[in-house]
Amino acid sequence: MARQSLQEEMTALRERALAAIQAAGDAKSLEEARVEFLGKKGVLTQLLRGMGELPPEERPAVGKWVNALRDELAEALEARRRQLEQAALAARLAEEAVDVTLPGKRPARGSLHPLTRVLREMLDVFTGLGFEVVEGPEVETDYYNFEALNIPRHHPARDMQDTFYITENILLRTQTSPVQIRTMESRRPPVKIVAPGKVYRVDEADATHSPMFHQIEGLLIDKGVTMADLKGTLTAVAHALFGEDRGVRFRPSYFPFTEPSAEVDIECGICRGQGCRFCGGEGWLEILGCGMVHPNVLRMVNYDPEEVGGFAFGMGIERVALLKYGIEDIRLLFESDMRFLQQF
Ligand SMILES: [Zn+2]
Repeated sequence: MARQSLQEEMTALRERALAAIQAAGDAKSLEEARVEFLGKKGVLTQLLRGMGELPPEERPAVGKWVNALRDELAEALEARRRQLEQAALAARLAEEAVDVTLPGKRPARGSLHPLTRVLREMLDVFTGLGFEVVEGPEVETDYYNFEALNIPRHHPARDMQDTFYITENILLRTQTSPVQIRTMESRRPPVKIVAPGKVYRVDEADATHSPMFHQIEGLLIDKGVTMADLKGTLTAVAHALFGEDRGVRFRPSYFPFTEPSAEVDIECGICRGQGCRFCGGEGWLEILGCGMVHPNVLRMVNYDPEEVGGFAFGMGIERVALLKYGIEDIRLLFESDMRFLQQF
């Protein structure tokens, strides 16, 4: 009778354990089932400890049964663990699945900065006329920025450009003209280049001034170049940038590195020469400075002014952008205000 009840008890225990393992819904409850039945203080351990109380002839059979049950439960635990893992993986895959039929998010499309647009347009015009694009350092020596351009020390023209000096001889270039000198030093005529880049001057930022701005400088040196070539080239450039129908005029001016020198104006696009607020009542807008390269500059780079000559010009890229787009304050170009930039 005792034998019978032990048998029943053991069968019930096996079923209870297997049911608990199957019912475990996650790793935590599975571990709880393992501890309950197979742990150090678990049911099976208790059972083995209680074997001493059994009649000796029953012990081997019960021991064998307990060991078999332990193996069986261990296998059931492992099988259930794998099942749970696979279910978790399947759930994660379902959650992370990408629905390729959903409409996509369109990335906001950027646009070119107005200065970049104007510069590219200018380079298009100049390379179309056969000019090569050359660049040079923004940190320059006094020699390249001034002396080689016919502006010796104590020359009053130095006051025209307030300079950021780094040391007595090193400075932030105030103009892109040093690139002309560097280019002429390294090659023989003919030279036909434009040099775009940043320049720096000690200026309070206001609607028309910025301590950093961009220039594009041009230089053409060859045999037999005249003022007529300069005029023809720059008129073509002004027309290409602002439109064929705009008037262009040349005014005498002074620069130390050119002789004769001129400034070039374009007819105001708003009043067509009548005078308005945009052109300050002048009817004309200044766009660039130019002139025939001074013989002293040619001598500095060992060119013979009796043999070759040419013209040079320079213009502010910001200035052209302001005029082209009717922008009234240069600071708008540097403030990165999206409301402004998105209009381009
Ligand atoms: Zn006007």
